[in-house]
Amino acid sequence: MPVQSKTKKSTASNQQEKKTKIDFDKKILFATSEAVPFIKTGGLADVAGSLPKALVDGGVDCRVILPLYMDIKQELRDKMTYVGNLYVNLSWRYQYCGLFKAEIDGVTYYFVDNEYYFKRSGLYGYFDDGERFAFFARAVIECIRLMDGFAPDIIHCNDWQTALVPVFLDVFYRGDDLYKNIKTVFTIHNIEFQGRYSGFMSGDVLGLPAWAREYVDFDGDVNYMKGGIERANKVTTVSQTYAQEILNSYFGYGMNNILVNRQFKLSGIINGIDVKSNDPKTDKYAYTNYDLKSFELKSENKTAFQKDLGLPVDKNIPMIGMVGRLTHQKGLDLLSPVITRILDMGVQLVILGTGDYKYEEMLRSCQSRYPGNLRALITFSGELASKIYCASDMFLMPSKFEPCGLSQMIAMRYGSLPIVRETGGLKDTVIPYDYTTGKGTGFTFYSYNAYDMLNAVERAVGMYRDYKQDWQKIVNNAMTQDFSWKNIALRYVNLYKEL
Ligand code: ADP
Repeated sequence: MPVQSKTKKSTASNQQEKKTKIDFDKKILFATSEAVPFIKTGGLADVAGSLPKALVDGGVDCRVILPLYMDIKQELRDKMTYVGNLYVNLSWRYQYCGLFKAEIDGVTYYFVDNEYYFKRSGLYGYFDDGERFAFFARAVIECIRLMDGFAPDIIHCNDWQTALVPVFLDVFYRGDDLYKNIKTVFTIHNIEFQGRYSGFMSGDVLGLPAWAREYVDFDGDVNYMKGGIERANKVTTVSQTYAQEILNSYFGYGMNNILVNRQFKLSGIINGIDVKSNDPKTDKYAYTNYDLKSFELKSENKTAFQKDLGLPVDKNIPMIGMVGRLTHQKGLDLLSPVITRILDMGVQLVILGTGDYKYEEMLRSCQSRYPGNLRALITFSGELASKIYCASDMFLMPSKFEPCGLSQMIAMRYGSLPIVRETGGLKDTVIPYDYTTGKGTGFTFYSYNAYDMLNAVERAVGMYRDYKQDWQKIVNNAMTQDFSWKNIALRYVNLYKEL
């Protein structure tokens, strides 16, 4: 039977966010390039789907604006209504911009429509991404004119795709009463992706006058993220540790010196997760729903998943899950040299993700040598992600850097114990288990070293096999953590209040 915590009463299933009024009467426009439930490639979409909702639940007028991508499903498009249109200047270009709107769960979403820029499959990776998102940033500002009476006090921008909003506001709009008092927040979700393009774009695409080009100029290139950092009133990132890390060159990807100069306005606020949609008690993709009280049912998910995947079916075989982009960021360079050592422990490793070809190939070839131990599911699937969270005993996330990371929090909520490297948000959300105190929610290692990671995996697997009581204690600790957005939304409100 699970060990019940004496101190924390909340469990995975009763962490549903209760609505409490937040004392804040300013209006927020949340500008993002992706948002759940409409379109998602990573954690930004989850944040954009949860933070505005938590603010709205607290009574704050927060609305979201994103591009109207072709890939947004028809059933969601059917909920949209046309608001109006205008034309947007982009240097010598004069581009059509339509605005649509939809209300989901009390949150108003606006969609910027321009088929030339956004009627394409996927979100990013086009030769003209710089122009597409410069257009979007300018459209965010212009579309406020169409939002019948909704005049935001704050525009909250996210990552390089919307980093130009604070720049454009300062350069082109401050003389207009509608815009003159708008404050801006710029949140860095991943500093590796900066929107860096050839220097000619500051004139030819952004249309910046010569005096303003220094805002985005970086080593002769145009760098959108730099512009956001320079011109936003507040800069945040998604964990306190990452806010410190990006001040040095290993993590800063060239932005470190700029951030050191702007440190006075930089802070870190950890992300939460949507505790409603990430709940093993109600997850529609679970084979068997469970919570902490009925934790023994979790193993039914493992055996059913093993059967579906064609793996040996045995609830006692430790299953390690991984869900995420297969890129160097996620620590695949640590996994490659020791993956066979992990599989030789007799565990089952189930990995879901897409990304760099070399990692996909490494996993495919390894799977052919270890058909009873490894499943590499090279795809993007919310259903398979849920099944991994439900079925696995451990969740491996050995990231090289991790601004926040959501998967490890989701895993803890599902009682799959994280094995993580102590960096960024992983450090801030996973407490290493200490058997002397009984505290801790997972297993950690510090150095970016494959053998340190292997050692952490060995510790976890050893404890799973031989120390069932301790294991259950950690599961209990992990599943009773509060990762809900309610408290985090209050931290953002405090930041907004400083403006
Ligand atoms: P990122 O750096 O990609 O933003 P996060 O851990 O912050 O990483 O968020 C990743 C989110 O995307 C999690 O909700 C995770 O479950 C989901 N995810 C990642 N890869 C996949 C995939 N291949 N299929 C389904 N969901 C995925």
